[in-house]
Amino acid sequence: MSSTDQVEDPYSGVLQAGAVVVCASDVRFDAAVRFADGRIEAIEPADALTSSEQQSVLAPGLVNAHAHLDLGAGPPSAPPAGGFLGWVAAVMSAREEITAAEVGAGARLAASRLLATGTTTVLDIDANDAAREALEASPLRLVSMREVIDGSPSTPNDRTDAALGLAREAVLRPTSERRAPGLSPHGVHTVSDMLLAELSRLATGLPVVTHWAETPEETRWMLEGSGPFSAWLGPSPLISGTERLRRAELLRGALLVHGNCPAPGELEALAGYGVTVVHCPGSHRYFSRPAFRVQDFCSAGIPVALGTDSAASNEGLDMHREMRLARETLGVSGAEAWRMATEVGARHAPWAHVTGQLGVGDAADLQRLRPAAWPAEARRDGEALLDILTATEPAVEGVWVAGARIER
Ligand SMILES: [Zn+2]
Repeated sequence: MSSTDQVEDPYSGVLQAGAVVVCASDVRFDAAVRFADGRIEAIEPADALTSSEQQSVLAPGLVNAHAHLDLGAGPPSAPPAGGFLGWVAAVMSAREEITAAEVGAGARLAASRLLATGTTTVLDIDANDAAREALEASPLRLVSMREVIDGSPSTPNDRTDAALGLAREAVLRPTSERRAPGLSPHGVHTVSDMLLAELSRLATGLPVVTHWAETPEETRWMLEGSGPFSAWLGPSPLISGTERLRRAELLRGALLVHGNCPAPGELEALAGYGVTVVHCPGSHRYFSRPAFRVQDFCSAGIPVALGTDSAASNEGLDMHREMRLARETLGVSGAEAWRMATEVGARHAPWAHVTGQLGVGDAADLQRLRPAAWPAEARRDGEALLDILTATEPAVEGVWVAGARIER
């Protein structure tokens, strides 16, 4: 697909396949998906399948729980020598060198790559309106989570007023079938108390996402005020990032991105807040981070979703690749990886019918997949099929959003 992705009627129809993944715990074989007006009406036994249908799988569109479409479609430069802060500086200066039109073109290409690889919903960090405006005509379901940052927790500064203005403007944007606003205080360490308090007031009913515990330097500075972040950020609040969000009344239902280095006891303290952590396997690999401790989150009852992060730190914008990397690096099952790339992230999308599943009444957001190999046992056993789909990056032969096929 290209930057001129179009939707094509009809919005109603029947599609058949050798298997239909209704959700991670429900796979039907030789089945049909019936949809009308963009919603699923029924999953039913298939009529006679063509051999092409027989070799394909229909599945819910994937949900990318963390992206920065305004950072383009890559490929990323090699990780800079200066570590994470060096990378941030390089990304910021690269952004200053390109025009708004170039940012928009990059966002369109990034969105197209995601659509072409089966992603139908993106929870995107909207740093400067560029992606949101450039994607006005895109068929993607796009949650544009307005990023605000004034640089430091301690005091309001000369950036705080402007950030407040951007947040106030963003929350007034309407939610439609494919567009919705959200808010993103950039990080638990880069937003002032005053800004957090106002975001808390504005965020009622909106998705909220923030970067959290991405690096050991961040966690050290949050807890102790020491280390390399102290020169950059000034006085530390001397509490964990999630405690800071809790006090600001922004923790409940939040998406917390990365969570590579939580403070001792922090996960246990998150129980009951309905948060989801977003892990970005491709970006994690780019920065050569230590293994992500997914089991710690499972033990604490905290769901984990998958995201691509930006193409400035990921060699691909493809949620099938993220699932494969999650299988390889986290030791999760195919069904678990599938859930992380669909249902878990969808809980934070602001549409009740966008569930990452194909239940009756759910959005007809679909992809048709062709596994490279499809052994007999995976024609009887749904878990075996999900193991194959998540381990091998199947070809994506078609994508539908709200029942409309996406054509180039
Ligand atoms: Zn991010």
